[in-house]
Amino acid sequence: MAKHAVVIAGGGPAGMMLAAELALAKVDVAVVEQRPDHVLVGSRAGGFHSRTIELLDQRGVAERFLEEGQVAQAAMIASTVLDMSDFPTRHPYSLGIWQNKIERIMAAWIAELPVRIYYGCEVKGFAQDDTGADVELSDGESLRAQYLVGCDGGRSVVRKAAGIGFPGWDPTRSNLIAEIEVTEETPRGIRHDATGVHGLHLMEDGKTVRVIVTEQQLGPSSEPTLGDLSEALIAVYGTDFGIHNPTWISRFTDMTRQAESYRAGRVLLAGDSAHVHYPAGGQGLSLGVGDAVNLGWKLAQVVKGTSPESLLDTYHAERHPVAARALQHTMAQGALQRRDERMKGLVDMVSELAIMDEPRKRLCGIISGLDIHYELGEGHPLLGRRMPDLDLVTADGPLRVFTLLHEAKPVLLNLGDPGGFDITPWADRVRLIDAEYVGLWELPVLGAVTAPTAVLIRPDGYVAWVGEGTDTGLRDALTIWFGTP
Ligand SMILES: Cc1cc2nc3c(=O)[nH]c(=O)nc-3n(C[C@H](O)[C@H](O)[C@H](O)COP(=O)(O)OP(=O)(O)OC[C@H]3O[C@@H](n4cnc5c(N)ncnc54)[C@H](O)[C@@H]3O)c2cc1C
Repeated sequence: MAKHAVVIAGGGPAGMMLAAELALAKVDVAVVEQRPDHVLVGSRAGGFHSRTIELLDQRGVAERFLEEGQVAQAAMIASTVLDMSDFPTRHPYSLGIWQNKIERIMAAWIAELPVRIYYGCEVKGFAQDDTGADVELSDGESLRAQYLVGCDGGRSVVRKAAGIGFPGWDPTRSNLIAEIEVTEETPRGIRHDATGVHGLHLMEDGKTVRVIVTEQQLGPSSEPTLGDLSEALIAVYGTDFGIHNPTWISRFTDMTRQAESYRAGRVLLAGDSAHVHYPAGGQGLSLGVGDAVNLGWKLAQVVKGTSPESLLDTYHAERHPVAARALQHTMAQGALQRRDERMKGLVDMVSELAIMDEPRKRLCGIISGLDIHYELGEGHPLLGRRMPDLDLVTADGPLRVFTLLHEAKPVLLNLGDPGGFDITPWADRVRLIDAEYVGLWELPVLGAVTAPTAVLIRPDGYVAWVGEGTDTGLRDALTIWFGTP
């Protein structure tokens, strides 16, 4: 039986991001993916938001995605676009890029890293004990792992086999999504009515049309047919536009559920396996990438024995509330897509309020993921929030904060007198950088904050400790997050 420190079930965006994080931390990681390769049939998600671009920037790969997508102001509520171009980030926008491209770029990235991928292989179940799990594969073989992570999507076999509850809300409506050819001209843009949202969009090849249509009644869980799509289009547009030659037809619903625990012993969940929701607002992929970046370094430290297993409990504690809030937000966004006469009044009211400065900033903070705040206790506003990508000056020249995070290692940034800190006991795991920063400290949504004299930055880019003239609490923070020396 082949052995790996970590086995990831599912090589979608969450699984690939987690694999990259573990490989960067030099952990032996394998991905089991049921598809024969990374190719995704259909375009699926349309992109991601600012914090996800930042997370990729922290690893030095954001440019690969930016080059193949289109930046846009795409944070929306109802039909109102919320401009976040004044946000204090290097990426004050969303990126429009189809998921099949995202996965191609991610697959190429992890191919450069020491990640073992078992394509064309399904995880069927597992048996866990005190030291790990035997992971059962569809080819009859098994893999032994110290930890198994289910990144196997909304119908997660891992979540079910672990017996983790998935409470939430049953679906109330369904949409069909397809990529297909047509014989008639199609209307441009999005249409709303009492059932929900509908739209047809000509793809880059100039002949394929991406169709999203809300069904008149909640559809069955079986695979949709060309006939179902035709019927749904006729109900909305009075014609099916002569649809033929589909390359992809799928159905999604507004079912909204979240795993009650992200960990059961040596089994963890990330991405859609931990939370599913209606795609309104474009949050799902970003949430999964965020989960992976939060979990990766923690799991790496536990596997290497530098941190106790209890560090893994902070993964659930930090990420469960983030997804719970996103789920609420997507339910609100979904409700606002229905436009009967009464809802129109509500949509107008929300739209009017949303463009006012304070609500706009709050909503953009949620949608972009830039306002995420992990509860790390009382203190400076930076504590538990993302570290801004400042332009630093060091003895070796100018340096961006995010460049310091490319290797996914923690950093103690000393912005006071050079040589003011001694962290020798942690020198093998935490980089100490003396630097100067002369600009404003500004956080998304919150605005300006007082300049700290030092910051301890976790590998995921969140601030674990803030120095305000002294090193009080630093040793505790180093021990909690990066282990006993
Ligand atoms: C129409 C639509 C539009 C969307 N738009 C957006 C958007 O604009 N922005 C956004 O952020 N999100 C969007 N989403 C959501 C996004 O697509 C998902 O949240 C995202 O794909 C989740 O990533 P994941 O890696 O967690 O799961 P998945 O992408 O579902 O990946 C799971 C992987 O596991 C594999 N797998 C499953 N079971 C097994 C098994 N037993 N063994 C081995 N492999 C297995 C699958 O083949 C797959 O590759 C949209 C979704 C839809 C349907």
